[in-house]
Formats: sequence, C-alpha cells, structure tokens
Amino acid sequence: MKDNRFETNAIRDQLERTQYLEHSAPMFLTSSYVFEDAEDMRASFAEEKDRNVYSRYSNPNTSEFITKVCHMEGAEAGFAFASGMAAVFSTFAALLESGDHILSVRSVFGSTHSLYTNFFPKWNIETSFFGIDELEKVEQSIRSNTKILYAESPTNPGVDILDLEYLGKLAKKHDLIFVVDNCFASPYLQQPIKFGADLVIHSGTKLMDGQGRVLAGITVGQADLVDKIYRFSRITGPALSPFNAWVLSKSLETLAVRVDRHCENALKLAEFLEGHRKVNWVKYPFLKSHPQYELAQKQMKAGGCVVAFEVKGGLESGRKFFDSIRLLSLSANLGDARSIVTHPASTTHSKLTPEERKAVGISEGMVRVSVGLEHSADIIDDIGQALG
Ligand SMILES: *Cc1c(COP(=O)(O)O)cnc(C)c1O
Repeated sequence: MKDNRFETNAIRDQLERTQYLEHSAPMFLTSSYVFEDAEDMRASFAEEKDRNVYSRYSNPNTSEFITKVCHMEGAEAGFAFASGMAAVFSTFAALLESGDHILSVRSVFGSTHSLYTNFFPKWNIETSFFGIDELEKVEQSIRSNTKILYAESPTNPGVDILDLEYLGKLAKKHDLIFVVDNCFASPYLQQPIKFGADLVIHSGTKLMDGQGRVLAGITVGQADLVDKIYRFSRITGPALSPFNAWVLSKSLETLAVRVDRHCENALKLAEFLEGHRKVNWVKYPFLKSHPQYELAQKQMKAGGCVVAFEVKGGLESGRKFFDSIRLLSLSANLGDARSIVTHPASTTHSKLTPEERKAVGISEGMVRVSVGLEHSADIIDDIGQALG
C-alpha cells in the first residue's frame, strides 16, 4: 500500500473496483460466496487461498474497514466486531487460559470492568487494578501468571492520561501482551502501537462512526495475536455486519475533519468552564491545568471530544443541571455529531459500588460532556444557562 498521509489513506484505501467501475465502494450484502469447482472448494476450506468463504469469517466491506484502521494505527492485521464490547471480550477470550491474570488500569469502560468482576472469575481469570497515579506500582503487581496488561487513555469518564510508552516498556520487559482501548482518542489523535501496544481496540460506535448510527468494534495489532483472535471469532460469530462495515468505512473518510472540529469545540467549552462560579473543577487533556497536560501533548494530536467537570453542590445541583439542559442530549453515548451530557454515577458507572466509583474518580456531581459538531457558541450557551 502506498503510504500517503492519514487523511488520504482514510479515503483512498478502498476495495478494487468491480466490473461496474463504481467510484464509491458498493455494499456486499452476501452471507456466503461460491466456488469455481471442486478443487477451489477444497483449497478455500483448507485456507490455501486468501478469499472470502462465509461472511462470519470475512466480507469485502469488513476487509475494507479493517484495512483502513490497520493503516491508521500502523497495525499488521485486524478483525472487526459487531460492537466494541464484542471486540474487548473476544480479544480476552481468545488470548487467555484459565488461571491467567490481567493487570488493568482501574478506570476502564464500565462494561469492561463488569467483565473483570462479574464474568472472568467464572473461568478462573483474575484481574488486579492499578490507579492512574500508581504507575510506579505496576511492575511489582506483575505475577508469574500475568498475561495481559490493559490500558485506556484518555480514561472514561475522567479523561486522565496514562503514560503508554512507560507501560509498553514494562510489558515488553515482562513479556506481557499490552492491549490499549484507544476509543476515546480515535486513531487520528493517537496510535498506541508507536508506544509499544501489541493490540489496539476500538469501539467503532463512537468517533469512528461519529454520527450515532451503528454499533461496531475492532481489534488491530500484531499479526500472530490477531490470528488467535480471528480463529476464536470465526467460530463464535461476533463478526461485524457488512452493512455496518460499509457505513464505518465511509465514516472514516471524514474522521480527521470531524475529530479536528470535535477537539476545537471541546477545548472552547473546557476554557469556558474553567473558573466558572458554578463549577468545582474541569478536566480536558489539552487544558494547561490538566495534571498530565505534558504527557497528553506528547501522546495525542489534540485533546479529544470529552470534557469532564463537577457541578458545585453535589447530586442535587447535578440533577438540576441535567433537567435544565435544552439543546444537548441526555444520553450515555459519546463521539456523536450531537453533543451529549452524561451523569456517569447514575448511568455508565452505576454498576460500580460507590467505593469503586470513588476509586476511579467519579463523584456524584460529575458531568461528562461529549462535545459534538454543533456551533461551539450554541453548545456553550446551553451548558452556561443550565449551570445558571
Ligand atoms: C463504548 C466503549 C466501549 C464499548 O463499545 P460498544 O460499541 O458500546 O460495545 C469500549 N470502550 C470504551 C472506552 C468505550 O467508550
């Protein structure tokens, strides 16, 4: 593949044209594919040929989407899933054995946390956690059975930044598989493989689609690891649908321009909230007051679409704030063209105990804003009037 720049690859990494010479890639809504003859049938099933056999294994639209994301992330291979959680679960399930141990940052996506605590123990897979300010303790928490080191940066919902290069070096030294959920950054803002990640996971549902239409997930990275994930997934069936893959591949054509505007709007909102008399604190990776501002500048191209802040007056003021919002959506999604306000304590992180919430920095008055693509002044006006 010719190595053009990010924006160009996002548009030009495209399927070969069919006999109709279409300009934009068509949709291949087919569950299976035909064989030329008996020998083709045998060779295809024996995997002697790189070709489509059945859409649970591969499909042209899914392949186009995977190719684009691999190119963006600098990855060797990938597999696309029906949702981000299907990607997270299948990655763990394909790589872990009973008795293995996961070492993970504590502030992970709520459903990932739920996998660790409610499901993996059934298969004798134990997880231990480190806080974002406890990186020096990570090395001593590595056990002889530790297999995966798992990180998210920026974290959800507190937008803390983890030193990926530091963790990447630790993983290499101790022969761990370093997995990074890069969903909050998108491949446009951050490529964890550069910092030593072996695998990168995305929920395509967020910035990748960016318009709140489809669920999707993808894992990309080192070819031998992706092959294990592929072997597991072609049997268990979490594959992305060709229709959603087509939507996603189109969405990636505009990822760079969209994410640039998301970040511009988010920074403006963060600056507005900083020092607002009704706000205790605001956190945004590219705000100078962010505790890991320097690190964010090193790892990311811009700060992302999520701004976190705390309304003064705790739960009661928080409720009033949400009830006063007029333009923005009250929803649990993020990375959408429409700006979204979320109350993590009662939604995305409601399954955690209050102690667990406290440990990952979620207070009752905390608000997460996924800043969208409306005019920044309208977003700021709405949040300003709701704060009162
Ligand atoms: C949304 C999200 C997921 C899960 O993705 P789904 O597409 O909702 O299954 C995983 N990790 C992060 C950081 C997310 O924001």
